Amino acid sequence: MNGGQPIRGSIEIDLVDRNWDLHGHATNPAFEETVLHVFVDKSEREFFTRTKSHRNVPQIRIDPAILPEAFSANIPLARPGRCQAPLKDLPEERIRSVLEAAARFRLEKKAARIRAKIENHGRDAALFQEIAAALGYKENKLPFTLIAQRAPLKSLRDSLDDAEAILFGLAGFLEAPDLAVYKKRVRNYVRELWDRWWPHRDEMQRLIVPAKIWKLTSTRPANHPHRRLAALAIIAREWPGLRRSLNKRSPKTVENFLETLHHPFWELRYTFAAVPSKEPMALIGQSRAAEILANVIFPFWRTEDHDVWPDYAKLPARLTNRRVEVAATRLFGDDPRRRNFIRTIAHQQALLQIYEDFCLQDDSDCAQCPFPEQMKKW
Ligand code: SF4
Repeated sequence: MNGGQPIRGSIEIDLVDRNWDLHGHATNPAFEETVLHVFVDKSEREFFTRTKSHRNVPQIRIDPAILPEAFSANIPLARPGRCQAPLKDLPEERIRSVLEAAARFRLEKKAARIRAKIENHGRDAALFQEIAAALGYKENKLPFTLIAQRAPLKSLRDSLDDAEAILFGLAGFLEAPDLAVYKKRVRNYVRELWDRWWPHRDEMQRLIVPAKIWKLTSTRPANHPHRRLAALAIIAREWPGLRRSLNKRSPKTVENFLETLHHPFWELRYTFAAVPSKEPMALIGQSRAAEILANVIFPFWRTEDHDVWPDYAKLPARLTNRRVEVAATRLFGDDPRRRNFIRTIAHQQALLQIYEDFCLQDDSDCAQCPFPEQMKKW
């Protein structure tokens, strides 16, 4: 401290400096060894941190506003792996061939999973379940999958007018709605859903997914499950159109189909309770459509033994995510070519596969991981 010798001891962290007293630390002998008191807010009157023996404890105030910058500057996303050395020496072409092999492997794995689902449920039902899972995103994959299993595509298409209400009902989003809290337009919409759900409710009540499996707070407003469920209902309604676009085997056609789905209520709203947006928002945006293509449609085409690789390899990545960035950091660190290796969905999928197969299996801090040696021989 202030250029002195290192001091060893405990550090107390509080929101407000005075909490030291309010929490009784000033008279608690267990806090005698404290060497630093860190807090976020200063109280109005000057406060000195003192231990039970009246020793003055140095203070530090943190400004939360500068933390994100300080952390992103100082703390790397992940530690570089042992494989960075061999990868740095490999020409870009060779790295691409490593990534291509991993991406092809992952695509085949997804196709095998969908093939098994098709055997159990049939083509359309399996595809519907996969699309539902993709609409649930990582956070709500489970409830969306359960709903698509409990309200299979065929039964939804048999009662198309009630399909949306059945999905919302099974999701538990229509349990005892208090219509009085909504403005007129929302009230009418919820009432119609409720009226249509009501005749199915007794029979389906035991299938309603439990509220505790929903994660409603960690999603972006436009990705709220309410909107995604409405998208799933529209997909069930427009299923023949989706099948026709799939038969063309053109990623662009499927993308157009997904991105132009309309819902007069939900294209202007984030949730039941939210204020309407001024501009219409796509029910399924560009990045989600790309994810559905990569994770569902291409593997689905692959189950029909079509060579989808040339088109798959060209799909641009619209977004990156934390796992991809961690994998890229471990494998490529500050290699200037790193950006080139996360530009396509295929490359991102490849990084995820390597990360799952090697990094997540390794508990030796890279020492026993076979990947670097495999790269030397590649
Ligand atoms: S575990 Fe293996 S693949 Fe992952 S960073 Fe370490 S050496 Fe690389």
